[in-house]
Amino acid sequence: MYKGIAVSRGIGIGSVCRIVKHDLSFEPRRIEDTEAEKERFHKAIDAFVDETNAMAEDVRKRIGVKEAEILRGHAVMISDPAMSGEMDKMIDQGQCAEAALSAVCDMFIGMFSRMDDDNMRQRVSDIADVKTSILKKLLGIEEIDIKNVAPGTVLVSSDLTPSMTSQIVKENVTGILTETGGKTSHSAILARALEIPAVLSVPGIVDAVKDRDTVILDGTEGEVFVNPEGDVLSKYMLKREEFIRRQAELKNYVGKETLTADGDRVELFCNIGTPRDAKKALKCDGEGIGLFRTEFLFMDNTRLPSEDEQFEAYREAVETMAGRPVIIRTLDIGGDKDIPYLGLKKEDNPFLGFRAVRYCLGNEDICRTQLRAIIRSSAFGKVRIMVPLVTTVDEIRSIKRLVSDIKEDFVKEGIDHDTDLEVGCMIETASASLIADLLAAEADFFSIGTNDLTQYTMSVDRGNPSVAYLYSPFQPSVLRSIRYITECAHRAGIPVGMCGEAAADPLMIPLLIAFGLDEYSVNPVLVLTARSIISKWSKKEADELARRVMELSTEEEITAVLREAMKE
Ligand code: PEP
Ligand code: MG
Repeated sequence: MYKGIAVSRGIGIGSVCRIVKHDLSFEPRRIEDTEAEKERFHKAIDAFVDETNAMAEDVRKRIGVKEAEILRGHAVMISDPAMSGEMDKMIDQGQCAEAALSAVCDMFIGMFSRMDDDNMRQRVSDIADVKTSILKKLLGIEEIDIKNVAPGTVLVSSDLTPSMTSQIVKENVTGILTETGGKTSHSAILARALEIPAVLSVPGIVDAVKDRDTVILDGTEGEVFVNPEGDVLSKYMLKREEFIRRQAELKNYVGKETLTADGDRVELFCNIGTPRDAKKALKCDGEGIGLFRTEFLFMDNTRLPSEDEQFEAYREAVETMAGRPVIIRTLDIGGDKDIPYLGLKKEDNPFLGFRAVRYCLGNEDICRTQLRAIIRSSAFGKVRIMVPLVTTVDEIRSIKRLVSDIKEDFVKEGIDHDTDLEVGCMIETASASLIADLLAAEADFFSIGTNDLTQYTMSVDRGNPSVAYLYSPFQPSVLRSIRYITECAHRAGIPVGMCGEAAADPLMIPLLIAFGLDEYSVNPVLVLTARSIISKWSKKEADELARRVMELSTEEEITAVLREAMKE
């Protein structure tokens, strides 16, 4: 049995498909038969062009015309004589195809990255993509088409990037296993959104399995079995049925208000990453959107989405929620969320670097475009703006100033918007927590991001398995922080929510009831589970439990007491 971090509940039983990282290095060779080499080269290009055009057609049907055009652009680019002609010339001079391809692509990458024009600079990632794809063909490397794996597949990979995860088709993938990542890595969040059982940070799992091995993974306990014995298989098939039965029972909570056992109402919202997820939030009975992670709009693109494109996406989510609140977070990139076409500089400590609100304030055009799109969408429902990774009062003031400027412009330009639009602050850094009283005087609401608050309070990288034992929102320091943040919000008379993964944790919920959290924002698939747990606790019982817990000194003692008190 192997053990890892359980990140997405349920039992997955299926057949392994390994996704291995490929080595794209090659030895440059001197070519004698240059005609044969050019033929090999053009065969690779032709295959690439055919596949890219087929993919573009699929994207056009599933996603949209504009996205398809980007892919078609890749096929056109490599067929351009300025590129392939240059490569042919180098092969004629005796270079091998791999070397010619790399040299010419790198030359264009260098040229485009030095240009002032944003559109031109964005071509850099397009060329890098084309180079990688054709290099793989020349080196005979077969890519796994994640979108088309067979039903019943368990994906096994050293790492699963958010863009790989977003290609997954739920009907085909019954489980995900990786060697890196933790509960709050973005792949984990996507796995939960797709309701696919997942266990991450399983040491050595990629080498421990072969394609088509049978594996069982328990996404609640973090256990993995490779080619299990018959009795283990039967046990887990029963466990899977039991899990499915329990999920079915939750249907009793559909359409109900979210109330504690003594009838106190709280709001139960959803976290989403795309406008399409808003439909899911509604289907799962979410009462609003507590966190729209807008970075996925930027990550699933090969260039910056324009104001209109962003506006359409935000409007779609807002209209879907039909008057229910939608909290849209400004761009939260950096850390583990890279956007290749922005050309972010490599940093020694990316989680402590130029990211999120820092990046937005340092790139005012990008920030302004996004705020304009969000504010325009406020004419179609109940929108709120939320700012991530705040560490100073100045940051929230600067964003508020930009929002006011844009609203003034809109009045002059006659653009409809909500004039009372609220601007809130995510509390997810140690600094923001310590100055929560000062921030509460500036912000219209708070939302506690426990994924990062735990990371920055405990000084542990949220995706690093070696320090995962310290990464827990039940550490006394994190719990004190959460309690202090809610106190500061309430003293200032503003509501406080939580959009970190802890908001749906059955052990955390009674403490949040005791602290008086006003709004819980969870993965849509956990709405009914969270509602059922909230309904089991009265304020008095929760207060009593919190009083005991807040006197304890270690995470182990705290979780032991909470586990014992947990209600089925
Ligand atoms: C958080 O940090 O808790 C949060 C909700 O933001 P993200 O997980 O996107 O960093
Ligand atoms: Mg965060």
